[in-house]
Amino acid sequence: MKIKHIKAYWLRCPIPAGRQWRSDYGQLTHFDMTLVEVTDEDGHTGYGEAKAAVGATGACASIVTCIEQELAPQLVGMEAGNITAVWEAVYNGSRDHYARDRGRVFPILGNRGTTISALSGIDTALWDLKGKRLGVPVIELLGGSCRESMPCYASGGWAAVDKLGDQLKSYVDHGYGGIKMRVGVMDNSVRETVARVEEARRALGQEIDIMVDAHGTFSVTEARRFARMTEDLGLYWFEEPVTSDNKAGTAEIRRGTTTPIAAGESEFTRFDFRDLIEHKSVDVLQPDCAIVGGITEARRVAALAETHQLELAPHCWGSAFSFMAGVHLAFSSPSAVYIEHSLGGNPLLYDLVKEAPQVADGRIQQPTRPGLGLEINPDFVQKFRV
Ligand SMILES: [Mg+2]
Repeated sequence: MKIKHIKAYWLRCPIPAGRQWRSDYGQLTHFDMTLVEVTDEDGHTGYGEAKAAVGATGACASIVTCIEQELAPQLVGMEAGNITAVWEAVYNGSRDHYARDRGRVFPILGNRGTTISALSGIDTALWDLKGKRLGVPVIELLGGSCRESMPCYASGGWAAVDKLGDQLKSYVDHGYGGIKMRVGVMDNSVRETVARVEEARRALGQEIDIMVDAHGTFSVTEARRFARMTEDLGLYWFEEPVTSDNKAGTAEIRRGTTTPIAAGESEFTRFDFRDLIEHKSVDVLQPDCAIVGGITEARRVAALAETHQLELAPHCWGSAFSFMAGVHLAFSSPSAVYIEHSLGGNPLLYDLVKEAPQVADGRIQQPTRPGLGLEINPDFVQKFRV
């Protein structure tokens, strides 16, 4: 069945005042996303997300233009079920016939950035559409599920040292066996960040997994000092210690600590992940289906994780569509252990769809509904469309 329409919507919705938070990105007052809608000639529709930024906010105008003005004219009329062929057509542009003839990539100039984010949304929507058309969940198309349920870790932990213990304990009270807290530049010193992590361990005890995320804000020296000072706290992972531009620096930090290093949420394509692996920078790969190139490319990253015996932990901070894309991917891969579950106020996770993804007692069940398993709430789209 051929692709008939591809549409993109920039949605911007306010976060209720009581549920906002402050990170190194500033005070988070609203969430943005690009919602991508692909319809085939039979009227089946799939949805995906394309991201302009890894945090909650970001201007999506250029991604909407890229999808509707540049990619849609190229892709309308292609077979909707040939998802890999669509991916390669975007990546290789006018030289795609060479790519298919020679068996290697001939990428267009824009093979990172906006184009790959835009492709991510289209690709994810095509998986959703194919699953709905066949009446099976995406996980079935990915080879079936490796497990019946998976543990989630609660992602949040922004509070200062005096309030952090209570904040994290409120997560654990909901049944989460792991939590993630932000560390890094917002604290006045490495010593202050270390004190917050020590407080987290004290408040939660030894049995709860603690991940820390610096959003790439430490220098290499600071990150090495932090890793050394927290070495005995048994952290589950140290995420994005320094900017993703510094893969060699990330490797230097990894060499100096036994704490596993996680990264990859802002990387584009499997080739960026190959570079992370070749630099020996990481223990945990974190592709974001709304950035890396959709489920197709995230699955290729999962294969790298499986090959190199690294943990796969999809970045699931976004709308219900990128969240569930990461969930289907994680359930399909033997290398995935944990699902990220955002505890910030996020209407795109809870209100954009008629029934939000269910996490109960810190666990999420294997997806069983067709496609990504979500039903769009059209009133929400109309209300928050920019
Ligand atoms: Mg992160």
